[in-house]
Amino acid sequence: MIITKTREEIELMRESALIVSKTLGMLATEVKPGVTTLHLDKLAEEFIRDHGAIPGFLGLYDFPNTLCMSPNSQVVHGIPNNTPLEEGDIISIDCGTIKNGFYGDHAYTFTVGEVSPEVERLLRITKESLYIGIAELKVNNRVGDVGYAIQKFTEDAGYGVVRELVGHGLGRTMHEDPEMPNYGRRGKGKKFIEGMVVAIEPMTNMGTHRIKQHRDGWTITTKDGKPSAHFEHDIAIIDGKPEILSTFKYINKALGIETDEEDAFRQELLTV
Ligand code: MG
Ligand code: MG
Repeated sequence: MIITKTREEIELMRESALIVSKTLGMLATEVKPGVTTLHLDKLAEEFIRDHGAIPGFLGLYDFPNTLCMSPNSQVVHGIPNNTPLEEGDIISIDCGTIKNGFYGDHAYTFTVGEVSPEVERLLRITKESLYIGIAELKVNNRVGDVGYAIQKFTEDAGYGVVRELVGHGLGRTMHEDPEMPNYGRRGKGKKFIEGMVVAIEPMTNMGTHRIKQHRDGWTITTKDGKPSAHFEHDIAIIDGKPEILSTFKYINKALGIETDEEDAFRQELLTV
């Protein structure tokens, strides 16, 4: 059952989402060669608590840390450890918070120093696919419309769409209805309604879409060992249209990246 939120509740959810956005923004300049994911995890936990929130992943389904840290061929759910990041790595950081009883859930794949043009392209396409999916999140569209749009764009670019892991509704629990796969068929699945809040999160592999689960019960890597990227936003449906509650602007500011992707996305909606 989809649990819709009032305008007031959506504003509270925006607060949770923004704390995650600021946490990722804080981490953006800390991600560099020689730093361990465990160190970044500690920084994030401190930052979240300093902002009056609770780390949302810590203890959730018994996850041991604040951040899911998934380098290179790890898709998602990587556990922070003492292995230093190296020049040319990528690191997908997924972060959750609880504030005012609501979850925020937000992810970004960072580069560690310089990465190859092939890897740059994987990150760019994955992030673009997120916005392409979000544009389909409007009243009377269906879950399959978002999945189809992301899958088509991703596969046309030559990449694999992970099937086993999906986006989800978000609220007082981390995973609510509906499941939001990054693949699907137009016009299929649950219909979107006013006041729903979801996390859309393409997980995109440079090679095969197939994955393998590791013995620690958490870590998931690509089957062929090629890199994987992950970007995630929290989005509410307000006045029939998608409103992104999280933002990459803190990351972009920290890294000196000039982009109008979030505004351009809104502009596009206005002209529809
Ligand atoms: Mg997440
Ligand atoms: Mg999520």
